[in-house]
Amino acid sequence: MTTMVLPPTAPPPAREKTAWDNALEQFDIAARVLGLDPSIGRIMRKCQLELTVNFPVKMDNGTVEMFTGYRIHHNGARGPTKGGIRYHPDVSLDEVRALAMWMTWKCAVTNIPYGGAKGGVIVDPATLSLRELEKLTRRYASEISLVMGPDSDIPAPDVNTNAQIMAWIMDTYSMHKGYSVPAVITGKPISMGGSQGRREATGRGVAISLREVARHLGMDLRGATVAVQGFGNVGSVSAYLIQDLGCKIVAVSDVSGGIYNPQGLDPRAVLAYVAQKKFVSGYPEAKPVSNMELLELPVDILVPAALENQITARNADRVKAKVIVEGANGPTTPEADVILNKRGAILVPDILANAGGVVVSYFEWVQDLQSFFWDEEEINRNLERIMINAFKDVMKTSETRKVNLRTAALVLAIQRVAEAIQVRGIYP
Ligand code: NAD
Repeated sequence: MTTMVLPPTAPPPAREKTAWDNALEQFDIAARVLGLDPSIGRIMRKCQLELTVNFPVKMDNGTVEMFTGYRIHHNGARGPTKGGIRYHPDVSLDEVRALAMWMTWKCAVTNIPYGGAKGGVIVDPATLSLRELEKLTRRYASEISLVMGPDSDIPAPDVNTNAQIMAWIMDTYSMHKGYSVPAVITGKPISMGGSQGRREATGRGVAISLREVARHLGMDLRGATVAVQGFGNVGSVSAYLIQDLGCKIVAVSDVSGGIYNPQGLDPRAVLAYVAQKKFVSGYPEAKPVSNMELLELPVDILVPAALENQITARNADRVKAKVIVEGANGPTTPEADVILNKRGAILVPDILANAGGVVVSYFEWVQDLQSFFWDEEEINRNLERIMINAFKDVMKTSETRKVNLRTAALVLAIQRVAEAIQVRGIYP
């Protein structure tokens, strides 16, 4: 009898962990530390509303293309939901879920009266004309207006979206209503209900976080070297405000790659270069580095300010920075957290470090609802107060619970959301 010899089969490749896997893993760690009631945990491990929209856009050449977008509310126990809208080819349901959950924690850690949400469209906006971008935005806004509103869910900018896109969304929503509703979205241009200080707010919060952690560690920031990954809204503002603290920015990067000069770069000059050439690559008097090399440079401080999953089990042991301040959402995986912790690196987590944006978005919403606007000095003073209080609360939790800053921030946030769920009760 002949036996058939089967070719050896390779085990199926392990599925890459998604941002949502990471968000749940971080949550589970903090829930264990907190001794969270499992019933409350079950509520928090799900997003309460997940809307998927498939919609057509008539392109400039007359053809019709279909696009897919999402709007997800993670948890609204503490108030209306809040969170940005991202345009990127890698947007997925799992990514938006994770970003929505992180928004819940971010609003709770800063103690502002919102729940968390996020939205996104699977698209590379660089491939669209301005006209197509406007049409896509207006149609997406119209599709998600079912779940968006000044009292229910208030979007804002995120990766590849900006003040102009926010203006189109506000206008579309207002056209449906028949009157202007500026409070439906934040990050708008100042000329139609935007807030002073909003453009710089996330970067300002990153710089405040760095200053506070350095003060806590007794670290002298004068001359400290810094690498910033991502040179968009968050990365570029973080870079020049961190330079204003006395640090030396030695490397920055964007989707085109990075630039490195150990003698220091002037972030404002790099911004002027980007305004002309679109990308940082090719900036004179600097060596090119890849985005992955940038993370491993011999610097004191690292600010990841691009996308998720940048510092992972694959490269965390080569990251040399003593202090990491997360400008981006989810740049560090739970496995990388363990490696960085072992090495004694101090990481200020996303839900605290990049919360400046949602804090000033909250101010924008309050100003729109009251039709009464504050000056920039008042905005920045209030931002500073909220960031410092959040930082102190997280530090205290870290010390009493003997956990790192990520887990401390999550414990604090989860506790606040749990209190809101408990006191409201489960309907009906
Ligand atoms: P942005 O679109 O203004 O900038 C993104 C930057 O990242 C660009 O420079 C882009 O070229 C670069 N980039 C894209 N892909 C990259 C890659 N693979 N490697 C390296 N760089 C890459 O977006 P943003 O608003 O600055 O957002 C950046 C991060 O900060 C995101 O994680 C976002 O969720 C987070 N965030 C933004 C805000 C806000 O107010 N805009 C608030 C909180 C957190």
